[in-house]
Amino acid sequence: MEVLQTVFMKFSHIERTFKMFFDLNKITSCLLIGAILLFGVFTEAEGRESRAQSVEGLYQKAQKSYYSLKSSRKKQAYRHHWMATINKFVAVYENYPSSSYAYKALFNVARLYHQLHGVAKNSNDQERALHFYYKVISEFKAGRLTDDSLFYQGKINFDRKNYSEALGSFENILQNFPRGDQVAKAKKFKQATAPFVKTKVVKSKAIAKARAVSGKAAPVLLGRIDYNQKPDSTQVVIHTGGRAKITHNRLRNPDRVYINFLNTRLDDGVKKDIHVGGDTLERLRISQFDKTTSRLVLEVPKEIKTVISQKGGVTVVDLIAPKKQPVITAKKTAKKEIAVKPEKARFISRSKKARAVVKPVPVSISPGTKRVVRREASLIVVDPGHGGKDNGATSKRGLLEKEVNLKISKRLKKILESRYGYRVILTRTDDTFIPLEGRGGMANENSADLFVSVHVNAAKRLSAHGIETYYLGNANSEQAQETAERENGELVHSVKDNQVQQILASLISTTKINDSAILAGHVQERLHSSIKKKYSSVKNLGVKEGPFFVLHDTNMPSILVEVGFITNSREENRLRKSAYLDRLAASIARGIHEFKKDRGPTI
Ligand SMILES: [Zn+2]
Repeated sequence: MEVLQTVFMKFSHIERTFKMFFDLNKITSCLLIGAILLFGVFTEAEGRESRAQSVEGLYQKAQKSYYSLKSSRKKQAYRHHWMATINKFVAVYENYPSSSYAYKALFNVARLYHQLHGVAKNSNDQERALHFYYKVISEFKAGRLTDDSLFYQGKINFDRKNYSEALGSFENILQNFPRGDQVAKAKKFKQATAPFVKTKVVKSKAIAKARAVSGKAAPVLLGRIDYNQKPDSTQVVIHTGGRAKITHNRLRNPDRVYINFLNTRLDDGVKKDIHVGGDTLERLRISQFDKTTSRLVLEVPKEIKTVISQKGGVTVVDLIAPKKQPVITAKKTAKKEIAVKPEKARFISRSKKARAVVKPVPVSISPGTKRVVRREASLIVVDPGHGGKDNGATSKRGLLEKEVNLKISKRLKKILESRYGYRVILTRTDDTFIPLEGRGGMANENSADLFVSVHVNAAKRLSAHGIETYYLGNANSEQAQETAERENGELVHSVKDNQVQQILASLISTTKINDSAILAGHVQERLHSSIKKKYSSVKNLGVKEGPFFVLHDTNMPSILVEVGFITNSREENRLRKSAYLDRLAASIARGIHEFKKDRGPTI
């Protein structure tokens, strides 16, 4: 039955193609018929291929490979067998990143690297194991493998004598997974770790962390939640006794958005569970998630779009239904997009009161709906490299890369917003340390369209100068490798070649890499040509590939710009001047805009 249907579909497809062809052209030739037949057959073959690559299918393949590796000592003796299995699990994650299989697959990747380290004693494998355990813990909602990942993370840190990190993992298990199967082991290891960690150090670190998260030590009160239903939207307003830092995510089954209010205490008077039952909000729940975090969960229909904005102690969540309009073609939409200014393209109607206090759309979560709706202005995440304890490169006269990066990035944000109407998020707005994973994570969480990391170069050879722009790939030169290693810093050694290979090999990422290369081209060209107009001896070092860690986690086109050499006295002098930084920022912005214009709106 299934076979028959397939055959029927195949022929009806060819027939349709024929009909279209005749309608359009009223002519034919043998050659063209051949081409059409071929086209029909290929379409069918592609369909079969994608069915075979279902998430279950991919996962089963990986699992089979895993069992075959586990049962053969001979296979275990060769690294490439391990890598083949790892790559199969990575493919599950890369192709279906939000499925429950991705969670299991990533855990298996971490386990495999962990076990491979046990066999081969290569510390890079241990590093990768840590990286993937971290991803399991940080990218997915807590599940039955999260406490296992925490334990192994702690165990690796224990083995590496990073006792305070290890203690953190074990304590996390005891606090957050008290009924899990890792508790006994975590207790034992916590006891073994404690003598190595001075209590004072841990305490001050914990306080510093709490400060970094909230900006204040004392938790603020989350005292009131209001919601206001309109025909096509619902607005939820959360009042906190001061600005509360938030993190948020969108989850499936059931479809819901959660928002964590960090360093807050939930007032007893707030109603904890409300069945709203509307078209744009079904249910609203809030709870004290842990000692210092209140978590708001909004259960929403699948296609609802979420826009979160904050001003002072007021957080506003707009839940918006897609506009009811006939699906229009990409071409028509493209015209509309150009005609309508980004701010006006939004279709939120807020109450006057809310409009008075709330800044427009700094953060949004896209539900990935397939329906054609008018889009908001593109969101660009600008990442000022380094910060806090990580100075980046330093000049002989004491100019710090992290400061230059921040100055350029702030200017870049202003220009992108005011001149081109984009929305922009900075990964840091002051001199704070943010781990590399956190930077890409921020872009992913907000479904950013582009990610641009801003850096200043350095070299042992003091005469080295010029501008270069990178995207993720294997380094083609020693210099590119050195630059990547320096930017990856001490914390992460490097994205290893095979990890880059895995990323380059996946279907989804191929698009990302191609677009990144094009974006890098626009920015590099614009930077070079515009700086050259005003300044002498500006060297175009071109677009390059490099294994930059900060670029490897992002889901969107991502580049890293090296605007000049801090170690070259002429370029250092320029980097100290406001006018030069302005020009750099304006050129990067223009390059970004040219890339976006070239692409047109993506639907
Ligand atoms: Zn840097």
